[in-house]
Amino acid sequence: MYSWENPDDRISIVHMNSELRQAQLELLSAHCATHQLRLRFSIDDLARFGQRDVLRKSVQAAAALSEYYTSIENKIPPAEADSEAPAQLTDERIGEAIALVSSYLRDQRERHFHSAAPLTKYQKALMWPYFSPALLDQVRVVELNGERLPNPPFYAEARALGFANLPEITHMHSLTFLDVVVFNEKVTERSLFHGLVHAVQFAVLGLERYTELFVRGFVNTKLHFSVPLEAHAFSLESKFMGSPAHRFSVEDQIRLWVKQGRY
Ligand SMILES: [Zn+2]
Repeated sequence: MYSWENPDDRISIVHMNSELRQAQLELLSAHCATHQLRLRFSIDDLARFGQRDVLRKSVQAAAALSEYYTSIENKIPPAEADSEAPAQLTDERIGEAIALVSSYLRDQRERHFHSAAPLTKYQKALMWPYFSPALLDQVRVVELNGERLPNPPFYAEARALGFANLPEITHMHSLTFLDVVVFNEKVTERSLFHGLVHAVQFAVLGLERYTELFVRGFVNTKLHFSVPLEAHAFSLESKFMGSPAHRFSVEDQIRLWVKQGRY
Protein backbone atom coordinates (compact mmCIF):
# COMPACT_ATOMS: atom_id res chain seq x y z
CA MET A 1 0.00 0.00 0.00
CA TYR A 2 1.22 3.54 -0.77
CA SER A 3 2.40 5.89 1.93
CA TRP A 4 2.46 9.71 1.91
CA GLU A 5 5.88 9.52 3.65
CA ASN A 6 7.57 7.92 0.63
CA PRO A 7 8.37 10.44 -2.17
CA ASP A 8 8.04 7.77 -4.92
CA ASP A 9 4.67 6.84 -3.55
CA ARG A 10 3.56 10.46 -3.57
CA ILE A 11 4.24 10.62 -7.31
CA SER A 12 2.36 7.38 -7.83
CA ILE A 13 -0.57 8.77 -5.85
CA VAL A 14 -0.67 11.83 -8.11
CA HIS A 15 -0.68 9.58 -11.18
CA MET A 16 -3.33 7.39 -9.67
CA ASN A 17 -5.56 10.41 -9.06
CA SER A 18 -5.12 11.67 -12.57
CA GLU A 19 -6.21 8.28 -13.93
CA LEU A 20 -9.07 8.22 -11.48
CA ARG A 21 -10.25 11.60 -12.76
CA GLN A 22 -10.00 10.36 -16.34
CA ALA A 23 -12.08 7.29 -15.49
CA GLN A 24 -14.61 9.49 -13.72
CA LEU A 25 -14.97 11.72 -16.79
CA GLU A 26 -15.59 8.71 -18.98
CA LEU A 27 -18.11 7.37 -16.50
CA LEU A 28 -19.90 10.71 -16.64
CA SER A 29 -20.07 10.48 -20.40
CA ALA A 30 -21.44 6.91 -20.17
CA HIS A 31 -23.93 8.17 -17.62
CA CYS A 32 -24.90 10.97 -19.98
CA ALA A 33 -25.42 8.63 -22.96
CA THR A 34 -27.57 6.38 -20.79
CA HIS A 35 -29.53 9.35 -19.54
CA GLN A 36 -30.42 10.21 -23.13
CA LEU A 37 -31.64 6.67 -23.72
CA ARG A 38 -33.76 6.98 -20.62
CA LEU A 39 -35.29 10.24 -21.84
CA ARG A 40 -36.15 8.94 -25.27
CA PHE A 41 -37.20 5.31 -24.85
CA SER A 42 -39.16 3.29 -22.34
CA ILE A 43 -37.53 0.48 -20.39
CA ASP A 44 -40.06 -1.96 -21.86
CA ASP A 45 -39.19 -0.98 -25.43
CA LEU A 46 -35.47 -1.23 -24.76
CA ALA A 47 -35.88 -4.63 -23.14
CA ARG A 48 -38.05 -5.91 -25.98
CA PHE A 49 -36.59 -4.35 -29.07
CA GLY A 50 -33.00 -3.55 -28.03
CA GLN A 51 -30.38 -5.71 -29.72
CA ARG A 52 -29.86 -8.59 -27.28
CA ASP A 53 -26.07 -8.85 -27.30
CA VAL A 54 -25.62 -5.08 -26.98
CA LEU A 55 -28.06 -4.96 -24.07
CA ARG A 56 -26.35 -7.88 -22.35
CA LYS A 57 -22.90 -6.34 -22.70
CA SER A 58 -24.16 -3.01 -21.37
CA VAL A 59 -25.82 -4.64 -18.37
CA GLN A 60 -22.68 -6.65 -17.61
CA ALA A 61 -20.43 -3.60 -17.86
CA ALA A 62 -22.70 -1.54 -15.59
CA ALA A 63 -22.95 -4.35 -13.02
CA ALA A 64 -19.19 -4.95 -13.00
CA LEU A 65 -18.51 -1.21 -12.55
CA SER A 66 -21.01 -0.94 -9.75
CA GLU A 67 -19.48 -3.95 -7.96
CA TYR A 68 -15.96 -2.56 -8.33
CA TYR A 69 -16.74 0.96 -7.09
CA THR A 70 -18.89 -0.33 -4.24
CA SER A 71 -15.94 -2.43 -3.04
CA ILE A 72 -13.85 0.76 -2.97
CA GLU A 73 -16.60 2.76 -1.30
CA ASN A 74 -16.76 0.15 1.47
CA LYS A 75 -13.12 0.77 2.26
CA ILE A 76 -13.12 4.59 2.39
CA PRO A 77 -11.99 5.39 5.95
CA PRO A 78 -15.07 6.55 7.89
CA ALA A 79 -13.55 9.78 9.28
CA GLU A 80 -12.63 11.02 5.80
CA ALA A 81 -15.93 9.91 4.34
CA ASP A 82 -17.69 12.04 7.00
CA SER A 83 -15.68 15.17 6.28
CA GLU A 84 -16.56 14.78 2.59
CA ALA A 85 -20.27 14.60 3.33
CA PRO A 86 -21.98 17.67 1.86
CA ALA A 87 -23.20 20.24 4.32
CA GLN A 88 -26.94 20.74 4.46
CA LEU A 89 -27.95 23.07 1.66
CA THR A 90 -30.33 25.60 3.13
CA ASP A 91 -32.50 27.93 1.07
CA GLU A 92 -30.19 30.76 2.08
CA ARG A 93 -27.15 28.94 0.66
CA ILE A 94 -29.01 28.11 -2.52
CA GLY A 95 -29.91 31.79 -2.78
CA GLU A 96 -26.24 32.76 -2.42
CA ALA A 97 -25.28 30.26 -5.11
CA ILE A 98 -27.91 31.64 -7.50
CA ALA A 99 -26.51 35.16 -7.00
CA LEU A 100 -22.94 33.95 -7.63
CA VAL A 101 -23.84 32.03 -10.78
CA SER A 102 -25.97 34.78 -12.28
CA SER A 103 -23.30 37.45 -11.78
CA TYR A 104 -20.71 35.05 -13.25
CA LEU A 105 -22.88 34.50 -16.33
CA ARG A 106 -23.44 38.23 -16.81
CA ASP A 107 -19.71 39.04 -16.33
CA GLN A 108 -18.66 36.36 -18.79
CA ARG A 109 -21.19 37.63 -21.30
CA GLU A 110 -19.68 41.13 -21.08
CA ARG A 111 -16.12 39.77 -21.17
CA HIS A 112 -16.58 37.75 -24.36
CA PHE A 113 -19.13 39.89 -26.18
CA HIS A 114 -16.61 42.13 -27.94
CA SER A 115 -14.37 39.36 -29.25
CA ALA A 116 -17.41 37.33 -30.35
CA ALA A 117 -18.55 37.19 -33.96
CA PRO A 118 -22.06 36.96 -35.40
CA LEU A 119 -23.02 33.64 -36.96
CA THR A 120 -21.77 33.16 -40.49
CA LYS A 121 -24.19 32.82 -43.40
CA TYR A 122 -23.36 29.11 -43.51
CA GLN A 123 -24.11 28.64 -39.81
CA LYS A 124 -27.39 30.50 -40.16
CA ALA A 125 -28.29 28.34 -43.15
CA LEU A 126 -27.72 25.23 -41.04
CA MET A 127 -29.73 26.51 -38.10
CA TRP A 128 -32.70 28.36 -39.61
CA PRO A 129 -35.04 25.32 -39.54
CA TYR A 130 -34.80 25.28 -35.73
CA PHE A 131 -34.26 28.85 -34.53
CA SER A 132 -35.93 32.21 -35.23
CA PRO A 133 -34.13 34.67 -37.54
CA ALA A 134 -34.08 37.19 -34.66
CA LEU A 135 -32.18 34.78 -32.42
CA LEU A 136 -29.74 33.79 -35.15
CA ASP A 137 -29.04 37.49 -35.76
CA GLN A 138 -28.56 38.23 -32.08
CA VAL A 139 -26.30 35.37 -30.95
CA ARG A 140 -22.54 35.75 -31.14
CA VAL A 141 -19.92 33.00 -30.90
CA VAL A 142 -16.27 32.79 -29.82
CA GLU A 143 -13.90 29.94 -30.55
CA LEU A 144 -11.07 29.94 -28.00
CA ASN A 145 -8.53 28.23 -30.31
CA GLY A 146 -6.54 26.15 -27.87
CA GLU A 147 -7.41 28.09 -24.74
CA ARG A 148 -10.17 26.86 -22.50
CA LEU A 149 -12.51 28.57 -20.08
CA PRO A 150 -11.27 28.14 -16.51
CA ASN A 151 -13.61 27.04 -13.76
CA PRO A 152 -15.50 30.01 -12.26
CA PRO A 153 -13.73 31.84 -9.41
CA PHE A 154 -16.57 31.06 -7.02
CA TYR A 155 -16.08 27.27 -7.16
CA ALA A 156 -14.03 27.16 -3.95
CA GLU A 157 -16.73 29.15 -2.20
CA ALA A 158 -19.48 26.96 -3.68
CA ARG A 159 -17.72 23.81 -2.46
CA ALA A 160 -17.47 25.35 0.99
CA LEU A 161 -21.21 26.03 0.85
CA GLY A 162 -21.73 22.29 0.34
CA PHE A 163 -22.05 22.02 -3.45
CA ALA A 164 -20.24 18.87 -4.57
CA ASN A 165 -19.62 17.45 -8.05
CA LEU A 166 -19.58 20.85 -9.77
CA PRO A 167 -19.29 20.55 -13.57
CA GLU A 168 -15.75 20.96 -14.92
CA ILE A 169 -16.12 23.96 -17.23
CA THR A 170 -12.76 23.21 -18.83
CA HIS A 171 -14.02 19.84 -20.11
CA MET A 172 -17.20 21.19 -21.65
CA HIS A 173 -17.53 21.69 -25.35
CA SER A 174 -19.07 25.13 -24.96
CA LEU A 175 -20.74 27.45 -22.52
CA THR A 176 -23.61 29.80 -23.28
CA PHE A 177 -23.59 33.16 -21.52
CA LEU A 178 -27.02 34.56 -22.42
CA ASP A 179 -26.59 35.40 -26.12
CA VAL A 180 -22.85 34.68 -26.36
CA VAL A 181 -21.67 31.09 -26.90
CA VAL A 182 -18.02 30.40 -26.02
CA PHE A 183 -16.46 27.25 -27.46
CA ASN A 184 -13.61 25.42 -25.75
CA GLU A 185 -13.31 23.27 -28.85
CA LYS A 186 -13.88 23.71 -32.57
CA VAL A 187 -17.45 24.68 -33.38
CA THR A 188 -19.33 21.78 -34.89
CA GLU A 189 -22.87 21.69 -36.20
CA ARG A 190 -23.86 19.70 -33.17
CA SER A 191 -22.16 21.88 -30.56
CA LEU A 192 -23.50 25.04 -32.20
CA PHE A 193 -27.02 23.62 -32.03
CA HIS A 194 -26.53 22.77 -28.35
CA GLY A 195 -25.17 26.23 -27.50
CA LEU A 196 -28.09 27.89 -29.31
CA VAL A 197 -30.64 25.83 -27.37
CA HIS A 198 -29.27 27.38 -24.17
CA ALA A 199 -29.41 30.84 -25.77
CA VAL A 200 -33.14 30.30 -26.42
CA GLN A 201 -33.62 29.09 -22.83
CA PHE A 202 -31.98 32.32 -21.63
CA ALA A 203 -34.16 34.39 -23.97
CA VAL A 204 -37.39 32.69 -22.87
CA LEU A 205 -36.67 32.45 -19.13
CA GLY A 206 -34.43 35.47 -18.50
CA LEU A 207 -31.11 35.31 -16.67
CA GLU A 208 -32.52 35.20 -13.12
CA ARG A 209 -35.05 32.44 -13.74
CA TYR A 210 -32.61 30.40 -15.84
CA THR A 211 -29.99 30.57 -13.09
CA GLU A 212 -32.45 29.71 -10.37
CA LEU A 213 -33.76 26.68 -12.28
CA PHE A 214 -30.22 25.62 -13.07
CA VAL A 215 -28.97 25.81 -9.48
CA ARG A 216 -32.08 24.16 -8.03
CA GLY A 217 -31.92 21.44 -10.69
CA PHE A 218 -28.30 20.83 -9.81
CA VAL A 219 -29.07 20.63 -6.08
CA ASN A 220 -31.81 18.06 -6.82
CA THR A 221 -29.97 15.88 -9.31
CA LYS A 222 -26.30 16.37 -8.25
CA LEU A 223 -25.26 15.98 -11.87
CA HIS A 224 -24.85 18.76 -14.36
CA PHE A 225 -26.31 16.90 -17.35
CA SER A 226 -29.32 15.66 -15.38
CA VAL A 227 -30.42 19.25 -14.68
CA PRO A 228 -33.62 19.55 -16.77
CA LEU A 229 -32.29 22.61 -18.69
CA GLU A 230 -29.27 20.55 -19.73
CA ALA A 231 -31.12 17.27 -20.26
CA HIS A 232 -33.56 19.09 -22.56
CA ALA A 233 -30.67 20.58 -24.56
CA PHE A 234 -29.18 17.09 -24.96
CA SER A 235 -32.46 15.54 -25.99
CA LEU A 236 -33.17 18.30 -28.57
CA GLU A 237 -29.61 17.85 -29.81
CA SER A 238 -30.14 14.13 -30.36
CA LYS A 239 -33.44 14.90 -32.12
CA PHE A 240 -31.50 17.30 -34.37
CA MET A 241 -28.75 14.76 -35.06
CA GLY A 242 -31.20 11.87 -35.47
CA SER A 243 -33.28 13.33 -38.27
CA PRO A 244 -31.62 16.37 -39.83
CA ALA A 245 -34.34 16.74 -42.46
CA HIS A 246 -37.05 17.10 -39.83
CA ARG A 247 -37.74 20.76 -39.08
CA PHE A 248 -38.87 21.83 -35.59
CA SER A 249 -38.91 25.00 -33.48
CA VAL A 250 -36.59 24.83 -30.47
CA GLU A 251 -38.38 27.83 -28.98
CA ASP A 252 -41.76 26.03 -29.14
CA GLN A 253 -40.25 23.01 -27.38
CA ILE A 254 -38.76 25.19 -24.67
CA ARG A 255 -42.00 27.13 -24.15
CA LEU A 256 -43.81 23.80 -23.89
CA TRP A 257 -41.44 22.62 -21.14
CA VAL A 258 -41.86 25.95 -19.31
CA LYS A 259 -45.67 25.60 -19.54
CA GLN A 260 -45.55 22.03 -18.30
CA GLY A 261 -43.25 22.99 -15.42
CA ARG A 262 -40.63 20.49 -16.57
CA TYR A 263 -37.64 22.75 -15.91
ZN1 LIG B 1 -25.37 22.36 -22.26
